[in-house]
Amino acid sequence: MPPRDSQDKRSTEHPGKLLAALGFSPLKGLGQNFLHDGNVSRKIVAEAVSLGPPYLEIGPGLAGLTDLLAETGSPVTAIELDRGLAGWLRDRFAGSNVEIVESDFLEIHEDEFRRRFPAGATVVGNLPYSVSSPMLIRLIELRETFPRAVLMLQKEMVDRLCSPPGCKAYGILSVYVAVLSEARELFVVRRGCFTPSPDVDSAVFSLRFAPGLSARFVRALQAVVRTAFAQRRKTLRNAPGNFLPGGSADWPELLSAAAIDPGARAETIPPEGYRRLAEALLARRHPENPLPSGRTPE
Ligand code: SAM
Repeated sequence: MPPRDSQDKRSTEHPGKLLAALGFSPLKGLGQNFLHDGNVSRKIVAEAVSLGPPYLEIGPGLAGLTDLLAETGSPVTAIELDRGLAGWLRDRFAGSNVEIVESDFLEIHEDEFRRRFPAGATVVGNLPYSVSSPMLIRLIELRETFPRAVLMLQKEMVDRLCSPPGCKAYGILSVYVAVLSEARELFVVRRGCFTPSPDVDSAVFSLRFAPGLSARFVRALQAVVRTAFAQRRKTLRNAPGNFLPGGSADWPELLSAAAIDPGARAETIPPEGYRRLAEALLARRHPENPLPSGRTPE
């Protein structure tokens, strides 16, 4: 742990002043909008603490959340892509319970995560907006190692993730989140809480993946969801078969086995319907038509 007096000093530092002192300019391409509202940071970290240690932080930036995570005394691994920030963070947390890894979160192999967190961990992150969808998809892939997460995303994205069927916002990620996890929108964070201020508001949400979901089931879910949403304006009977093992020949029977009306559109099918479709696909799968393996596609 860093000495107490330095922690107190840290909590009063404003990102704008820190950036000026360090001579850094925020990089838009890396989504560098730094949270400067201490109340919001405390609420995010309190939620992470309620989910339990150890912690993996994605994109620590200027350490607004990392300082508070450090104060828990539990092990924290923080992955930062920006070389300048990573060097500054390494100095700041040298000899503490926080390890800084300079890397792209999306490029770290799952074996490395498993090695670091053999008993799992809670993910915390104010995610860079341009890559928040791939990061969520990656977290679905890594769900056994990271079964819990507290994430800040654009409000519009959180609305999408938590959207019910029948809404325009309901889509592929909403189905994944609803079928694979329990997700809750916690609170909205206004754009003025960040330096520099982004164009839109954000929201914090928590995610708990259901235990024991097999990789085969998740791949089957992805195949049927991508099939259904490939042309969301068309009815399901007209969905293309290119995401299905063996093509579209089985699709009408899969819909029938899952008790889904082929005249319906993808956005009206509830998550439970997609779960039944994935189970139907698993039950029908032929050895010569295996489900695609490897990294989870969107
Ligand atoms: N956690 C800090 C906060 O709340 O103020 C910073 C959040 S800022 C929205 C996103 C951070 O993620 C930046 O520090 C950025 O450099 C970092 N970042 C962007 N892409 C990344 C990636 N692929 N892997 C790891 N960090 C990344």
